[in-house]
Amino acid sequence: REVVSRSGSSGVAAGRPGKATTSSLLSQADQAVMVAKTKGGNAISVFTDEMQEESEKRNMIELSLRAAIADESLFLEYQPEVDLRTGRIVGVEALVRWNHPLLGLLQPGSFIDVAEATNVAGELGRWVIRKACGQWADWRSQAPELDLDLSVNVSPGQLAGLDFLDVVANALTEFDLRKGALCLEITENAVLSDLTWTREALEGLHAMDVEAAIDDFGTGYSSLSHLKALPVGTLKIDKGFVMNLDTNPEDRAIVKSIIGLAESFGLELVAEGVENVESARQLLDMGCHRAQGFLFSRPVSAEKIGKLLAAGAIEVGL
Ligand code: C2E
Ligand code: MG
Ligand code: MG
Repeated sequence: REVVSRSGSSGVAAGRPGKATTSSLLSQADQAVMVAKTKGGNAISVFTDEMQEESEKRNMIELSLRAAIADESLFLEYQPEVDLRTGRIVGVEALVRWNHPLLGLLQPGSFIDVAEATNVAGELGRWVIRKACGQWADWRSQAPELDLDLSVNVSPGQLAGLDFLDVVANALTEFDLRKGALCLEITENAVLSDLTWTREALEGLHAMDVEAAIDDFGTGYSSLSHLKALPVGTLKIDKGFVMNLDTNPEDRAIVKSIIGLAESFGLELVAEGVENVESARQLLDMGCHRAQGFLFSRPVSAEKIGKLLAAGAIEVGL
């Protein structure tokens, strides 16, 4: 006996004659049905005011993102990575923000995926890489002996761009970055979307002495065989496993196994999302020395980083 089943989703939109047009109602119903489908399907969803707001916001972001890259309303904050044993700042991660003229301060979560969906990822990424490398050079000119790594996030669309390696190479030359100082962070899903090209891109980076890290490690689907096959030097343990390390034994077990994995593959480790001293202590006990999180510093301005660097170390309290 074979069971055949069907399911369906509907989107509903309502409007008054004279106020709404057929095409706006159809598009609203379309958006509502997408919501029903992403919630698992086989459901009915009614177009709401929140969906309206969300879609207007997204449209606004979409329309002004390209201009924002040109007019400097984007800016970078930096979050330190510390050595848990000494509190020394060993690196910083650049994180993009957007001062939107109408929507206010936007976090990357609200516009990176729009950039991806509208083919602006390459331009946005180029801006971030140049800006961050330029800032690194500035810190360096203030303190020539400075030994600081710079991490920059790379989105899947950016990694896939044909000029990706050129953009990186140009920034290295323009700002005279020392070998190994730049680390590019990619997510597991970006690694997987096109494995052949990813390998080529990562090998290109490797040839330029640029490090590569897998960000949010543990949340995606990368299999261990990819770790072996790709020139990746660092795993960043996702903050979801780190934030509650002090109270959650399952998280501890996962972190422990990631640490073991990194050791056997000879990979560097960074734990992100360290929010309390107890979690930091546990990381250190388990053999992870490098960490970033609100406990040490939130992402801050370049100027503030300059001051932290001048102070030498962040009090870890372990
Ligand atoms: P990510 O690369 O994993 O960056 C870490 C995120 O965790 C940052 O959020 C940071 O503010 C936050 N975080 C750091 N420490 C803690 C902590 O102790 N507790 C908690 N709860 N959160 C912490 P943010 O800045 O909102 O960035 C979110 C994501 O957006 C980043 O995740 C990255 O994937 C992406 N992103 C940020 N900047 C860029 C960029 O320039 N380019 C691209 N492609 N993606 C970016
Ligand atoms: Mg990152
Ligand atoms: Mg992360």
